[in-house]
Amino acid sequence: MFQAFLIKYGEIGVKGKNRYVFEDALVARMKQVLSGVDGTFRITKEQGRIYVEAEGAFDYEETISALQRVFGIVGICPVVLAEDQGFEALSEDVLAYMHRMYEGVTDTFKVHTRRANKRYPMDSMEVNAELGGRILEEFPGLTVDVHKPGILLHIELRSQICIYSEVIPGPGGMPLGTNGRSILLLSGGIDSPVAGYMVAKRGVYIDAVYFHAPPYTSERAKEKVVELAKKVARYTGDIRLHVINFTDIQMYIYDQCPKDELTIIMRRYMMRIAQQIAEDTGCLALITGESIGQVASQTVPSLAATNDVCRLPVFRPLIAFDKEDIVTIAKKIDTYETSILPYEDCCTTFVAKHPVTKPQVERIRWSEKALAGKIDEMVKEALETKEVIQV
Ligand code: ATP
Ligand code: MG
Repeated sequence: MFQAFLIKYGEIGVKGKNRYVFEDALVARMKQVLSGVDGTFRITKEQGRIYVEAEGAFDYEETISALQRVFGIVGICPVVLAEDQGFEALSEDVLAYMHRMYEGVTDTFKVHTRRANKRYPMDSMEVNAELGGRILEEFPGLTVDVHKPGILLHIELRSQICIYSEVIPGPGGMPLGTNGRSILLLSGGIDSPVAGYMVAKRGVYIDAVYFHAPPYTSERAKEKVVELAKKVARYTGDIRLHVINFTDIQMYIYDQCPKDELTIIMRRYMMRIAQQIAEDTGCLALITGESIGQVASQTVPSLAATNDVCRLPVFRPLIAFDKEDIVTIAKKIDTYETSILPYEDCCTTFVAKHPVTKPQVERIRWSEKALAGKIDEMVKEALETKEVIQV
């Protein structure tokens, strides 16, 4: 029944003079996701509205689900578009729409008209009243409720006429590309894919880095991370995944530093390396899936000790989330099932029985002195030999 969609985009509307930047980014991303859907689509921008029109046959379900992955969209409204051929023609179109959507339905309704075309011969109140009356006559199951209608029928009088009553929720957020690029520390766990999704949702392009420690972590563990990156990329667009061979660095820390500080020192090296990649590739910030208190390396003193080596901002969107809430999002974005596959990650292999939970920055810095010299070579080598996978 529907050949077109009206796209509602919330926050962009308030961006003043820069509004077109956000709208253009939104349209660009919509084109990108729709290119993967069966059908030919035309996207038009008109008077603060964005419409998607399908030319010929198209896959309705796929179209909706693609648009539901476009950040910045708050609502997708399947619409009937008609030329303005006078009120009688409009009235017929509206009744035909109601028959197809609500035949035999018992509910309340309200007509809400927006008269953007100021030359339309009736005002919006008159259109509401007249259409409401005709619907009442023809649909015995429908009654009017102007406060809390079950069906809110929108009529927009523009250069063409737009009829809709259904708003399918979009993901919200801001269009990709409106806030630069950041690098996600992506492990095989539940949290980091969610963290990447959340920051991307605010308009940030995402690249990723994974610290791989063969033979302690298997090829399967790496494939799992690639798989997760692919799932996140359905929302965030292409991801460049940097795979760092972390084995030598990890072993060296293991040999030279107190065992209970191993995790913290390792995490400081992850941050340093991620930061270097960020600076080399034009990323403005780091993103992690850390959450206060989740594990020993995520107590507040541990986070402070890790953060001590960071010059760039570190975004931790899950910082105050409970695991349960993170899992809910992971399920929604379809990363959860992959995340719980049981492949070891490089942190678990070397983890101490009793890691420090209240590390002191000074003490950690002092412990790291044992690594001086050689570790810088190892970091340089790890960066030079990194593998880059385009996801
Ligand atoms: P996750 O579900 O993201 O793995 P986690 O609860 O297992 O989280 P940690 O292992 O302590 O937490 O890691 C905290 C954060 O550090 C992760 O969310 C991720 O951003 C980053 N991280 C941990 N291990 C790696 C790795 N091997 N490669 C890249 N980033 C990592
Ligand atoms: Mg992890």
